[in-house]
Amino acid sequence: MRDAVLLGVLLAAIAIGFGLGVRYTARRLRTHTSRSTDLSKEYFVGLNYLLNEQPDEAINTFVNALDINSDTVETHIALGKLFRARGEADKAVSIHQNLLARPALSTSTNEHVQLELARDFVALGVHDRAQRLLQTLLDQSANDTYREEAKRLLIDLLEREKGWLDALDVAQSLFKQQPGMRRPAAHWLCELAQEEIHQASRALARKHLKKALQLDERCVRATLLLADLEMDNGHYTRAIERLDHIPNQDIAHIPTMLPALQRAYERNDDIQGFETHLYRLLGQAPYTSIIITLGELIHHRDGVDCAIERTGEWLREAPSLGGLDYLIDLYHESHRLSGRALPDTRLLLLKHHTNALLEGRPRHRCRRCGFSSDSLAWQCPSCRRWGTIKPITGVDGE
Ligand SMILES: [Zn+2]
Repeated sequence: MRDAVLLGVLLAAIAIGFGLGVRYTARRLRTHTSRSTDLSKEYFVGLNYLLNEQPDEAINTFVNALDINSDTVETHIALGKLFRARGEADKAVSIHQNLLARPALSTSTNEHVQLELARDFVALGVHDRAQRLLQTLLDQSANDTYREEAKRLLIDLLEREKGWLDALDVAQSLFKQQPGMRRPAAHWLCELAQEEIHQASRALARKHLKKALQLDERCVRATLLLADLEMDNGHYTRAIERLDHIPNQDIAHIPTMLPALQRAYERNDDIQGFETHLYRLLGQAPYTSIIITLGELIHHRDGVDCAIERTGEWLREAPSLGGLDYLIDLYHESHRLSGRALPDTRLLLLKHHTNALLEGRPRHRCRRCGFSSDSLAWQCPSCRRWGTIKPITGVDGE
């Protein structure tokens, strides 16, 4: 980090040196050399600080050495960014506010500085000031690049403040050019739906969820919530129909929907239907959670030895640690039912190993940044992307 900052200051110093060189040449032509000579002197003092690894003193000297004019304004902005990157956003605010106080600034530069100032306020945690600045920029700027960046920053702030409706309002105009915005927007609608469910406004919740699916037809969360609403109304078959869409939306979320699917079939008093459904899912993806759920159904209906046989077959095709752990439990049960008083020590040893391997193992992982956790979060706490955390499947997964 320190090396990166030093390199940044060095680059800024080169830029200042270049700026001074241009100005010195221009001024020499006009025979006003004294101020430029002073500036060059300050430049070399700053460079000396830099070479002695004293970046604070170097930056202060460079800032003091520079007038604000069209040649140097970019360097001031670069120095502001450096302060922010160093965690000194308050100094960045001073530099950027100092720039904005200059009436001669072009409209484009003024807007660029406003964006930087908004970033400083975000870094300082002063969200209301950042928000006001970005809103003004959005209302007034004619520059598409700055407007889009202001929208992006504003949406990020509104998400942090849980201002879902306001975020939707800002994002509305972006859906056409940036289809990637549809996924987070569908999740904001799910957030709104959950708030409505909490306040017992189910009709409004349903409206938000249907809109979420219109925005992003692959939004598993909206489907899960719609299925929950159907179940709350006692419409279990409709809930099952909803859940049946999830493997097509995102096959990796089959383990997420299994508990809801089981609940819906149980309330419908249709365990046979559940088993048939599970076989169909197993044909789509041989996930451990499907194998274990099917194994348990067979265990209860046909007995433990039958469950061992079938589970063993499936695990040969799709081996997994969780499946092996479950199979050991079944063998334990079979051993106990055979009337032996003491447990099989070989099974106990195997169980000890699978337990140790499964302990502390995360069940979900962000497909974008790799963040892992036991529970499923719809927004990754690490990279802040929506819908990127999914169940871990495969050998050591669900
Ligand atoms: Zn992530």
